[in-house]
Parts: sequence; structure tokens; C-alpha cells
Amino acid sequence: MNRDDFPQLQDGVIYLDNAATTFKPKCVIKRIADFYTHENANVYRGLYDLSIEATNKYEEARKTVAKFINAESEEIIFTNSTTDSINKFAQMIDVKNKIVVSDITGHHSNLLPWRKNAKEFKYIPSRQDGSSIGPDNCSVVNGFIDIVAMSMHSNVFGNTKSFDDAYSRPEPRVIFFADAAQAVAHQKIDVKSYYYNPLALAFSGHKIFGPTGIGVLYVGKAIHDQLKPAQFGGEMVEDVREQDFDLAPIPQRFEAGTPNIAGAIGLAEAIHYFSAHQEEFLKYEKELATYAHEKLSEIEGLKIISIANDPIISFTIDGVHPHDVAQYLAMHNICVRAGYHCAQVGLDNLGIGPVTRISLAPYNTFDEINKTVDVLKNIRKDMHV
Ligand code: PMP
Repeated sequence: MNRDDFPQLQDGVIYLDNAATTFKPKCVIKRIADFYTHENANVYRGLYDLSIEATNKYEEARKTVAKFINAESEEIIFTNSTTDSINKFAQMIDVKNKIVVSDITGHHSNLLPWRKNAKEFKYIPSRQDGSSIGPDNCSVVNGFIDIVAMSMHSNVFGNTKSFDDAYSRPEPRVIFFADAAQAVAHQKIDVKSYYYNPLALAFSGHKIFGPTGIGVLYVGKAIHDQLKPAQFGGEMVEDVREQDFDLAPIPQRFEAGTPNIAGAIGLAEAIHYFSAHQEEFLKYEKELATYAHEKLSEIEGLKIISIANDPIISFTIDGVHPHDVAQYLAMHNICVRAGYHCAQVGLDNLGIGPVTRISLAPYNTFDEINKTVDVLKNIRKDMHV
């Protein structure tokens, strides 16, 4: 990883809050600036070159995303974020008539849209390490279900393998929904490689060096005939008469109004950058994470609650509130996040409460880990614990 690619890394900060959002490489910043400087036009509307070109680039971006997760272009719907994808999908699949189960340690974004709108909602319980209790031991997962909504990679516990294990005997009519907001940064996603079918999946561009405000909703073709538009307006229709209208083909049908064109093009650039080095990034990140786990474990009173050697490292320190840990690190120019991480239900259910989280990206270094560990070694003494 060339750290010079990321202008913000040059500002001297130690940025360990990559699960919240990642820094952006120059190529992504330039791509977005170029679009707004020379290429700006709306898509699908104009008959002039600029608009035709903008449409072509927007559709190219869709192909790039599809290839990245081994999907077909028409299975990719652009949204604003993971949260937006899940809310839209819940409406598109008519969740008010469905029974939904979701892992209790999941992000609020993968709980509340279901919990608020489903005919019936149930939690899949969790073990202390954040992994879900699967069908062999869990009556919730054995009951009648329409949708199983799982985190592929928890933003608190890391890769618990819950996605792989929690629902190991799916019936063909059960829809599997994967919250891939963190998985997209830390695992290779191949929608054809999972035994869950039908499958839908969501992620945000900003977790993999892309801009904020662009998200992806993948919906496998197997369930296309069950989907209804969640929003209505321009460009999602073909022919609009006084009383009725014909829908545009999928995926335009699910992208009402002017989409985030620059965001989609910026995300495609981020994916080109990310996927060109993905294997190397994931390998390095794993080595760095293993080192970080080892060094952090040596600190007296520090307890890691996430899965061993995961790049998402949540921990508590005896006698020091997680917010104080984050603030103490901030005083040393080190950025981490503290609190419930939008996973309050699971953290409270397991009796863990708020935690501090270090989350790594491939541009982080061993030296940054050493500096962070050195600072943390003094915290209990400085706080008179
Ligand atoms: N799910 C998980 C597991 C996440 O980590 C996040 C972001 N923290 C989200 C969903 C929501 O992503 P966004 O805020 O980009 O919608």
C-alpha cells in the first residue's frame, strides 16, 4: 500500500476508525473532481453528448460493482448507503407481510428497518463472542421464516462466521439478506459462492475508499419478480398516463429521481483501486491485525471482545470508560471510536456494554500500532486506576 496515495494520511494523524469510514485515495478524489469539472450532466435524459457520456459512465460503474461481487449488472441497484439499501429492500420485498429474523449483535441498520416494518421480527441469539446460535440449537431459526437478515462481518465482533453458520438449512423460499457493510472491506465477496439463494446484500462505498452518499443493493435475479418499487418519480417509469403507468426495466425501476452519478463513478474508481490490490491488502491487514491483537493483549486490564486477529478490534479497559479511552487517544492524535457502535441491543444483551474500537485499513502500519499501544500502556496510571 502506498500511503502517499492518501492525502489525509499526510496530515500526521493516526487513523484507526476505518470501520466508520475510510480515507480516500487521490484517484477517487480526482475522478469525482473531473466529473464535476468536465463531465457533469444528468443521466438517461439528454440526447446531447455530455448526457449520453454521463449515462455510459454511470452504467459502466454499475458493471464495475457487479464484477467486483461476481453479480450481473441488473442485480445492482445504486442507493445512498447500506442503511438506505436495507430500508429500501425491506419496502421492495413487502416486509410488512414477512417474518424476519436477524442476529442480535447486528448493526441497528440491519435490525430497525426489519423490526419496525416486518409482520413479525425475532432476534437470533448470540454467544459471548458475537457469533449466532445456529439452527441446531435455536428454535428461532428453526421456526417459520421468510427472511434471514445477517451481518457478514460484525462492526463490533469482526468475522464471527455467523453469516456462514447461522442458517445452515435454508429452504428455497427463504430470502437471505447479508449486511456486508464491513465484509466488503475485509473479505472477498462473491455472491455466487454462497449456498444462500435467493440472496440480497448491501454495502456502502465509503468503507472501501469510495465517497460517502453512495451505496449498493444487490438483489439476486431469483427474487426480482417479488420486488416492488420503494420510491416513485422520474426515470423509474417508461410510459405515464393519467391513471396508470408502466415501470422501467430493473434496475432503473428501483432508482427513482436523479441518482448520485458522481458517487457511483467515484465508487467505481475506488473499486478499481481496491480490487487491483485486494489480495495483498487482505493479507497485510491480517498480519497487522494479528500483531495488534498480540500487543494489545499485553496491556494490563485490557480485554479484547472481538474475534481473534480480526481487523476490527473492540476492547474494554478495567476501570476506564471507553469514551475516556477514546478521548485519551485523541489527545495523542489517534482516532478510534467508542460507545455502542450502533450495536447496542447485542452489546447490552451480552452484558458487555460500551467498548472502544480500533479498526484497521491496509494503509495502517506496525509503527502506528506500536505508538497506540505505548499510549494505552499509560492510561490506567494516568487515570489513577
Ligand atoms: N452495518 C454495519 C455492520 C456497519 O458497520 C455499518 C456502518 N457502521 C452499517 C451497517 C451502516 O452503514 P452506513 O452508515 O454506511 O449506512
